[in-house]
Amino acid sequence: MHCPFCGADDTKVIDSRLVAEGDSVRRRRECVSCGERFTTFEVAELVMPYVVKRDGTREPFNEEKMRRGLLRALEKRPVSAEQVENAISHIKHRLRTTGEREVPAKLVGEEVMLELKNLDAVAFVRFASVYRDFQDVSEFQEEIRRLTTDAPLSK
Ligand SMILES: [Zn+2]
Repeated sequence: MHCPFCGADDTKVIDSRLVAEGDSVRRRRECVSCGERFTTFEVAELVMPYVVKRDGTREPFNEEKMRRGLLRALEKRPVSAEQVENAISHIKHRLRTTGEREVPAKLVGEEVMLELKNLDAVAFVRFASVYRDFQDVSEFQEEIRRLTTDAPLSK
């Protein structure tokens, strides 16, 4: 890394620390030649995969669309905006770390359901009923039964 003051190509790192949720690193550097100090940020370049829809078309991952889906399911439920944002960042993190260029839309839906399951049972069922094409009522009831028996959920 060249010194932005004198152009020397030898600078040393005098301090490194993680920023925010650990997504980036802030480094304090000092130029060996002129002694000036400056800061650099290092961010891992991980891109969101494309989403492949059921009809085979691809579209860029759309965070707003996912947020709307979550918020619709969570309407009038006791879940804070912060919890919603955390859920979104968990989902994005997992999608990025798949390392795939494309993921099926189904996977995104499953990730949303996973987060909703932890947040709010009612929202989970709302989302699941819209998202998963339940073939019939019994399948839907089975999902609710599973939910109420094996998941530690708030009332
Ligand atoms: Zn310098």
